[in-house]
Amino acid sequence: MALGSVLIAGGGVAGFATAGQLRSRGFGGQITIVDPEGLPYDRPPLSKDYLLGSKSAEQILLAGAAWFDEREIAVVTGRAAALMPDQGAVLLEDGRKLTADRIVLATGAVPRRLDIPGGGEDTVLELRTKADADQLRLVLGPGVRLAIIGAGLIGAEAASAALTLGAEVTLIDPVNPPLVPAVGSALANRLHRMHAARGIRVLTGIPKAITVNGAGHRIVMAGGASIDADQVLVGIGVVPNSTLAASAGLDVENGILVDERQRTSHPHVYAVGDAARVRLQDGTLLRRAEHWEHARNTGSTAAAALLGQELPDHGASWFWSDRHGVHVEGVGSMAGEGDVVIRERAGAPVASFRLDAAGYLLGCAAVDGGMLVRAARRIIDRRILVDPVMLADPTVDLKKMVR
Ligand code: FAD
Repeated sequence: MALGSVLIAGGGVAGFATAGQLRSRGFGGQITIVDPEGLPYDRPPLSKDYLLGSKSAEQILLAGAAWFDEREIAVVTGRAAALMPDQGAVLLEDGRKLTADRIVLATGAVPRRLDIPGGGEDTVLELRTKADADQLRLVLGPGVRLAIIGAGLIGAEAASAALTLGAEVTLIDPVNPPLVPAVGSALANRLHRMHAARGIRVLTGIPKAITVNGAGHRIVMAGGASIDADQVLVGIGVVPNSTLAASAGLDVENGILVDERQRTSHPHVYAVGDAARVRLQDGTLLRRAEHWEHARNTGSTAAAALLGQELPDHGASWFWSDRHGVHVEGVGSMAGEGDVVIRERAGAPVASFRLDAAGYLLGCAAVDGGMLVRAARRIIDRRILVDPVMLADPTVDLKKMVR
């Protein structure tokens, strides 16, 4: 039976990419995106330009309304409350029922809750949606004491933006430095030290409780120290939004389990983006990715799979992050065993490389080194054997190592 309709639950970059790719790959049937937030928008600016006020809500839309009209992609504002895979149906919170030949779950992730007394208070902020960013922006300003719990990618970006907006920022993380698995320890150290150098109070420790007193908050740390703050933001990672899939009996384990075609344990339901996790044929569960480009790529894989086309090869995964005026990029994986090579400039690490025992590149991260990371990506994807001495040499243009 020819595919006539696809319903996509979730209009983040993964759902948006699925819809766009279905059309650009020639699908002429019905495409519907359902999302409580309406027109798809981009999340990375929420901790950067949008939080700073230098980009508007309109400027962070993934596409304007005309784009959807031209492609006859319907965007329904609503939240899917139940999935009925055998009926090819999704029931919305308001009672509407949407049906399609295939359903794609693109429900993303939600911030991990801080599981300590006071951690779930309404005044303890998080940053995942435009509404979250609006709320944070509203309370930030000169002299406002902001405590951020979690100094990972989003916590660090929010700290940098809040500082620019004049806030007095305290950044708390149990680990020093954070982000070693993402960028390796040399760059993680350099990046973490930048916070204090810019005037952020950096604390290593574990918060045990948050009390709300009047308009302010007190964070009590293990060991007894306490931090007073007007506002508290928690950025301790995300959990995949897999409730719909789990309630419908689909296989779920820290993500909606999919095969390499993004197909879930139900043959008519696919899952993409932060919500999905690949289970290989032999049962091995891959690490769930939580990056923008990966989310977009899974959308094109799902579209190709839905249309019975050859699956695209995306190569090594890539991410970026911006804070304190520097641009960080990473490709492949810096986590795990292997030889680490550091490239330095003027005594400071600018790039890290991880190599396997045979000398093949597994991962690379760099500060203000977009071109270098792009070359590293080709080296990883093409499995080019590289000389570690050249990797470490800041005068060597990595592009020249890509044959
Ligand atoms: P999401 O973007 O989370 O979208 C999921 C959508 O599903 C949401 O719109 C939600 O409303 C909808 N939804 C949820 N439940 C339902 C339901 N029941 N029914 C219908 N719809 C539903 N990555 C990088 O690589 N670099 C960065 O610099 C970077 N910065 C970031 C900054 C911030 C503040 C955040 C939050 C993320 C950042 N990321 C970054 C990560 C990147 O944005 C995510 O990996 C990406 O958004 C995942 O896309 P997604 O479509 O899978 O999920």
